[in-house]
Amino acid sequence: MADIFLTNTLTRKKEKFKPINRKEVKIYTCGPTVYRDIHIGNLRSYLMADILKRVLLYNGFSVKHIKNITDVGHMRSDPTTSRLRGASETAAFDPVIAEALKKGKTPHEIAKEYTKKFRDDEKALNILPADNFPKATEHITEMIELTKGLIEKGLAYETNGTVYYNVKKFKNYGQLSGNTLDKMDKLLEAVRVSSESDKKKSVDFALWKKADEGHILQWDSPWGKGYPGWHIECSAMSMKHLGDHFDIHTGGEDNIFPHHENEIAQSEGSTGKPFVNIWLHGGWLLIDSKKMARREGETFTISEIVEKGYNPLSFRYLTLMAHYRSRLNFSWDSLKQAETTLNNLYRWVSGLGQGFGDKNKKDTSDFEQNFLEAINDDMDMPKALDIVWQLTKSDVDDDSKLKSLLKFDKVLGLDIQNAEQMEVKNISDRITKIEIEKLLKERKSAREKDDFKLSDKIRDEIKAKGYEVVDSKDGQKLKRIIN
Ligand SMILES: [Zn+2]
Repeated sequence: MADIFLTNTLTRKKEKFKPINRKEVKIYTCGPTVYRDIHIGNLRSYLMADILKRVLLYNGFSVKHIKNITDVGHMRSDPTTSRLRGASETAAFDPVIAEALKKGKTPHEIAKEYTKKFRDDEKALNILPADNFPKATEHITEMIELTKGLIEKGLAYETNGTVYYNVKKFKNYGQLSGNTLDKMDKLLEAVRVSSESDKKKSVDFALWKKADEGHILQWDSPWGKGYPGWHIECSAMSMKHLGDHFDIHTGGEDNIFPHHENEIAQSEGSTGKPFVNIWLHGGWLLIDSKKMARREGETFTISEIVEKGYNPLSFRYLTLMAHYRSRLNFSWDSLKQAETTLNNLYRWVSGLGQGFGDKNKKDTSDFEQNFLEAINDDMDMPKALDIVWQLTKSDVDDDSKLKSLLKFDKVLGLDIQNAEQMEVKNISDRITKIEIEKLLKERKSAREKDDFKLSDKIRDEIKAKGYEVVDSKDGQKLKRIIN
């Protein structure tokens, strides 16, 4: 088996991947909050996890992948820690509830609606579904148990119905983000916000929060009625579905602190064992060189991409053009360029086997070896795409090219086997496609009336637009003419 290298945020190094159990690699991905559409910045992070999974599968591993659904709402009500590295959104209320009230719907209905939308977006991007999408609301018991355990170990304390993690008691705090206690103390001194005065120390974060009256989502607990914190959710669900110690945890770079730092504190504090071997974080998607921020109204969704006539897989291609750790600037121009390139690939694939085949040429083993090395080198997808294009221009016969390309597509996920249909989906061909469909209909009815003269005339018109009509027993088929 070939070696796979991944950059581990925890060690700040690119290291050789060693699975805990060779039979099955276990991955946890922080999933969406389902009270609104997810934006393409979130999707870039899920695409990174998808490539990771595909690379592992390509290398012959079995993979168990868990992606949680946050249907409780983040509880980042802490303006002090949000000033520290990473944390950017501050919500003083549960957004699921706010949205439910606004629309006159129940939180459950809203979560269901947006979960479906999220799954549809992932499907449009050819993201392989996780093996399980556990919901936070279905793991409240596990979160309470974990919280109870942390109190028993002296790592958490309850004040007035809310339970806080006593960060000072966990000696490895800061190992992931570098936000160690002494650094945090200095930062917090400068900020000095005492909105939650029950806390012993302002760095402490809530594991369980007392529910105010009228708070719709609330559960009974040993500390009275309340609801869980966001961080405890991922510790509880990952350990339930993957065990106390698993291989890889993924997220966006803004999850490093406080979310993932706090997950480590909760899980390792609770088990006394290492929690995750490799922490993998994807870079932000920028718009006009700024972080995509919902409050500034600068976010885009897959629906918007489709509405503008783009193939969602062009967005997938765009993300493959940059390394997952680097920040990627999104613009409609960059998407258009990605789409043009992807369409060239589709066009090239659909032209294969149309007379260019010349056997006894070079084989593809060098390309396959280089492709494997690129994807195994910390998922270097820009390099992998480079190899794809080198292959298209190479002196290899068409059949072998296609075979290798279809193999590579198990990682790329660009739906290359449907290249012919995919290609006509693109924006510049959209009008042509509508015209051709109209012509095909006319030709069909001409043939039904045995008007072969008209049928041939229409065939020529279609040919002038770049497509050959082939009559088969399943009806008329289109084939792109390659010049
Ligand atoms: Zn998470």
